[in-house]
Amino acid sequence: MQRPNVDANGGAGTWDDKEYGLSTDVVHGTVVPDAATGAILTPIFQSTTFVQDSVDQYLAKGYSYSRTGNPTVRALEHKVAFLEKGAGAACFSTGMAATVSVMTGFLKQGDHCVLTNVSYGGTNRVTRKMFQDLGISFSYVDFTDPANVEAAIQDNTKLVFSETPSNPLMTLTDLQAVSDICKSKGVLHVCDATFATPIIMRPLDFGCDLAIQSLTKFYDGHNMTVGGAVISSTPELDERVHFMQNMHGNIMAPQTAFLVLQTLKTMEVRVLRQSATAAKVAEFLEKHPKVDVVRYPGLASHPQKELADRQHRNGVHGSMLWCELKGGFDAGKGLMDTVQRPWSLCENLGSCESNLTHAASMTHGNVAREERLSVGLTDGLVRLSIGLEDPDDLIAALGKALDKL
Ligand SMILES: *Cc1c(COP(=O)(O)O)cnc(C)c1O
Repeated sequence: MQRPNVDANGGAGTWDDKEYGLSTDVVHGTVVPDAATGAILTPIFQSTTFVQDSVDQYLAKGYSYSRTGNPTVRALEHKVAFLEKGAGAACFSTGMAATVSVMTGFLKQGDHCVLTNVSYGGTNRVTRKMFQDLGISFSYVDFTDPANVEAAIQDNTKLVFSETPSNPLMTLTDLQAVSDICKSKGVLHVCDATFATPIIMRPLDFGCDLAIQSLTKFYDGHNMTVGGAVISSTPELDERVHFMQNMHGNIMAPQTAFLVLQTLKTMEVRVLRQSATAAKVAEFLEKHPKVDVVRYPGLASHPQKELADRQHRNGVHGSMLWCELKGGFDAGKGLMDTVQRPWSLCENLGSCESNLTHAASMTHGNVAREERLSVGLTDGLVRLSIGLEDPDDLIAALGKALDKL
């Protein structure tokens, strides 16, 4: 049988370690027709509890209560683990639920965590506003140089938390280098790879112990559901994550799991198309006289281009980019107020609908200016999430709005 071979750049486009190509795996991997009915899609098991055969046979069917485990959610967990090459995965109500359960699962009072200084805002906030108060300390470190991570590891460090590409700065972490450091120090390495998706990069391939995905973003891809996943490299880690989830009660709902099981089937097609359009938009912006800087891992001007090419599959670099406009805060805000359809002004990312956000007035409006600037979140920084619209329409609308500034 001929295997599909999809690649935006025309090279050898599939992971080479599997029976089927990635395109086949995202559609069919781990999902089989329902044994009872032949239904091609996984049924929604909308049931709180599962009747047991006897006390002696308790859990023989594998399920007891839907906070602990649910067959529809389990089907998605198997699928995510398969796509990310994990030993197991746990699906959560949101991406933040996944992050919080990792931190509570592997950090206790007196422990220390090395966290990237350009993490997703919610990740940074929960460490400062909650975990620090519980007696857990954090070092916020520039992960673009793995030596900084090594230097920050202390005797009580239990977890190193990376994010690549980072939201919204698009800086990259050399995952293998950081994993090697973690391994030599006996510290767990978790990577939030939401911006990459398993279509572009699988953190476990680069020695990470755990990976986090906000399923809200590219797995869903339709602005329809919120969800998260933790992918574990060993059954023991997976068991620990599920144990935390059962205690916290932050498992994904079966309806949501059903929807994500369907939307993820087009994730490869979407990510490849969105990435190709993002590259075009980035090139357009880089040439525009009103634009100071553009950051996209596919551009030769990205300071970590060599790492991007090494770490991202087949020269595909995702749908996220940012630009810094000449004219600072007013220009950034002005673009938001001027740009027309098909662009939307809103905060989600990774979806079919392209959108843009102005960090200084929107996502990071509550962060002190000096703190924002210190990590490179400048006044005119505009983050773009590229969707599935016609690239020419997106570029034309951007051009019109930029010309009016
Ligand atoms: C959105 C996002 C999260 C949080 O996910 P939610 O589903 O919104 O809770 C975590 N990490 C990154 C990189 C994100 O973009």
